[in-house]
Amino acid sequence: MKKIYCIGELLIDFVAEKQGSDLSQAFEFTKKAGGAPANVACAISKLGGNGIFIGCVGSDPFGSFLLETLKNEGVDISLTQLSDTFTTLAFVSLSEDGERDFVFNRGADKELKYNANLRKNLHGNILHLGAATALLGGPLEKTYTKYLFDGLTKEMFISFDPNFRSDLWKDDEETFIKKCMPFVEKSHLCKFSQEEAQLISGKENIEEACDFLHTVGTKIITVTLGKDGTLLSMNGTKKIIPSIPVTPVDTTGAGDAFIGCLLYQISDLGNFDPVMKDFSLLEKMVATANKAGAITTTNYGAIVALPTKEQL
Ligand code: ATP
Repeated sequence: MKKIYCIGELLIDFVAEKQGSDLSQAFEFTKKAGGAPANVACAISKLGGNGIFIGCVGSDPFGSFLLETLKNEGVDISLTQLSDTFTTLAFVSLSEDGERDFVFNRGADKELKYNANLRKNLHGNILHLGAATALLGGPLEKTYTKYLFDGLTKEMFISFDPNFRSDLWKDDEETFIKKCMPFVEKSHLCKFSQEEAQLISGKENIEEACDFLHTVGTKIITVTLGKDGTLLSMNGTKKIIPSIPVTPVDTTGAGDAFIGCLLYQISDLGNFDPVMKDFSLLEKMVATANKAGAITTTNYGAIVALPTKEQL
């Protein structure tokens, strides 16, 4: 089984207890572990895979809580770094009109330094780059780009999820799109939501969006479509792979469960060649990953809701 290195942010989400008010009116918050690449590492480890998280948290109680959470899910946190800067904190509330009120205190996640000693272990493994905060600047962005090039020289299977957060990029979507392009160009697999595929390609029609994104470079595209499943596009073939019917209570983390489960299956295969060539093999894997996404929506929270292999 291949190792899967997941690089990016790990942070605290403080979610307002009483929904329907904006943050100025919220008094009670629930502390939750957050960060899409960290969720992906948890999804992989919960399925029995070799999920390794590389990110940075503060040397403070929030950082300890986050590391403990990942450790409890079986994630290898030996490459996670500690910083004197406070752990990154996000405060979220849903106001009455359904709009998200969001305050982001960026701290330690941006401090991730490149670890040159890691290069010797990377060869032939899997690299997953989740970009929610990684493209916002700071040492993390440089580190991220260096690992992308390591991924190429070390013959890794590279996976990219842009994790577009409108709250973080509302005044500068153009910069986000520009910064995503080298990752779309060099990754073997890109996982987009419908909104991301449309935004990054500039094309409304989802099939045209995929065609454009393939011309940028990526060979395999998955576009997650919520209850409708996932559009898989590779080698000129496109197909919507249906999900399973569920009664969702909280969709947080469904996308992370999906990509985590897909990468777990690729790691289990131990050989990337068939994945790049065999559409029907990938189709089966996507169908299983859809199930992981669907199951995650049936429970509250992201990490606790991720399925085990038995549940799957
Ligand atoms: P996120 O919202 O976590 O950033 P995302 O928008 O990529 O990620 P979704 O499309 O909501 O994620 O879900 C990922 C996958 O999980 C879908 O492609 C689908 O297979 C499955 N899924 C999500 N919601 C449902 C649902 N309501 N019913 C069935 N399957 C679902």
